Amino acid sequence: MHIPRLHPDTIEEVKQRADIIDVISEHVVLRKRGKDYVGLCPFHSEKSPSFTASQTKQMYYCFGCQAGGNAMKFLMDLEKRSFAEVVLDLARRYQVSVKTLEPEQRQELQRQLSLREQLYEVLATAAQFYQHALRYGGQKRPSEVPLVEATSGEKALQYLQSVRQLKEETIQQFGIGYAPAGWETLYRYLVEDKRYPVQLVEKAGLIKPRKEASGYYDVFRDRIIIPIHDVLGRVIGFGGRSLGDEQPKYLNSPETEVFIKGKTLFALDKAKAGISQQDQAVVVEGYFDAIALHAAGINNAIASLGTALSIEQVRQVLRYTDSKQLVLNFDADKAGTNATERAIGEIAELAYKGEVQLKILNLPDGKDADEYLQGREPEDYRQLLANAPLWLDWQIQQMTKERDLKQAADFQQVSGQMVKLLKNIANSDTRNYYISHCAEILSLGDTRLISLRVENLLTQIAPTRAFRKPTPVIKQQPVETEQSLDKSESSLLPIAEALLLQIYLHYPVYRGAIVDVLDERDLQFSLSHHRFLWRQILEISSGIDDDLISMVQDRCLEFPEEMSLVSHLFHLNEKTQKEIISRHDKLIQAATACIELVLREKRYRHLCQLFEQIDPEAEPEKWESYCKVFCQEKQQLQELERQRQFSLAELL
Ligand SMILES: [Zn+2]
Repeated sequence: MHIPRLHPDTIEEVKQRADIIDVISEHVVLRKRGKDYVGLCPFHSEKSPSFTASQTKQMYYCFGCQAGGNAMKFLMDLEKRSFAEVVLDLARRYQVSVKTLEPEQRQELQRQLSLREQLYEVLATAAQFYQHALRYGGQKRPSEVPLVEATSGEKALQYLQSVRQLKEETIQQFGIGYAPAGWETLYRYLVEDKRYPVQLVEKAGLIKPRKEASGYYDVFRDRIIIPIHDVLGRVIGFGGRSLGDEQPKYLNSPETEVFIKGKTLFALDKAKAGISQQDQAVVVEGYFDAIALHAAGINNAIASLGTALSIEQVRQVLRYTDSKQLVLNFDADKAGTNATERAIGEIAELAYKGEVQLKILNLPDGKDADEYLQGREPEDYRQLLANAPLWLDWQIQQMTKERDLKQAADFQQVSGQMVKLLKNIANSDTRNYYISHCAEILSLGDTRLISLRVENLLTQIAPTRAFRKPTPVIKQQPVETEQSLDKSESSLLPIAEALLLQIYLHYPVYRGAIVDVLDERDLQFSLSHHRFLWRQILEISSGIDDDLISMVQDRCLEFPEEMSLVSHLFHLNEKTQKEIISRHDKLIQAATACIELVLREKRYRHLCQLFEQIDPEAEPEKWESYCKVFCQEKQQLQELERQRQFSLAELL
């Protein structure tokens, strides 16, 4: 909308009244920590909070992506809106009267601002009407509700109770209603009885102008009505389901000023607390699937509105989870996997990048959640949920399903599909993990074939992507001359150091082992930001178990520069977690070996220089003692190479 220039007084007053914590809390779950607040940053993906907001300073700052500013900046960046739009929005919320530089524009402005408010109101009134119509036919109607067919509401209620097996409290909780069968019942109620302007009711998507004659007719007729709420619980639209076989079976409100399908998720207002508690969101296909899950106590369920999931929808949900876990539970119909694949839409990219932990749940016998729960315990569903495979694993399962890899044609097809999949994975750890996994499948249990399969997959993926081999790197002759100190040794150092710090931060149980090995071998972190972080850790870590990460972050508030270099260490992706859990001892050994190797190689080079200066004939004893030291050093280096045994670069 066009916004006239705002009076500086208005801007100033908005600044005074809009509280940053209040503003941010609408979009981010904030937790109080010390005198400030922390939460998951809405501007980048993260698993542990690096976004901080200060009430005293009225500023926010993210240690992960360096986003920062005041309340208005926050809304501008988050909602991609102009300064004036944000100021107006805040003015409305904090009841600041809006003055423009040109007084005559003021009325128009107020009109636009209040349109949304008016839409919310008429939609809420319509929702009440539908709810009444479900309860009271023509006979028992309260005086306000116009005459509707006596039996139709009962028919709808019966459908909800017997076909959908919904309890009274669920019908109430979701505000389910009924749109009477007549052409104008809602129209008459809202426009004639309630005196809402007809254009407003039309803008709310509730009525449509007749094509052939003058006048309007109701969009929803003889349908079960399910109100759709925004995340703040305001009614923004409706879904209508036909009672019989009339088509379409489901009809949604058209898009309006307040209802945009690609930005809305059904039941998110009711699920957000559950999502945050379970640290996981379940996305189902239909309204009744979500309703059935909530009725069964699975309160982290939401429904897409029949469209592919958009990045915006997913980001809305992920805001409430720390682990970014999203389980898609869509029908696996005869066509197999189409519904799931369609639904994934734009989020495939997020999943390949590792920004969302996407899992897929297909219920047995192609059932949807609503059907499945009829006659089963919620616990059964929870069990399936817990075992849902990651999307990548699920795709591999789909590829190999009903295939005989011993047959050349099947083998080729599957391996071709695998290559395609592997090419998509942007995160190199994840990709390497799946290369090994696919190679294993293609080896059909013959472990001698695995490395050959890995090679094959790599060559096929290689043309589009350059990356390193995930096979173990063992050098034959690690240290011969100075030239063999190739760059890869020192470029591994940051990775090794980061890995040790990550293990230390995320796994209290291995902390002792790390401190011991560093002390024992007198090792230091070489990179200054790692040393900085290590210092912070040592200063607070005695006796702290689980809260170390947040305490370190608190401490570092004053060092944004160092913090930006280490903040990625506060996060762990799932693959790294798996790696650490399965072979933490090897990893610690390899990482410390790598750190020590770099130090010792420096010393070795120094020794080389000294050694060259000695004349063996003039100083035979000195020369001999140097030789001894030299040999010892070389053995040590070889031993460290052995400990390092697999390349760390593949792990992190
Ligand atoms: Zn951020």
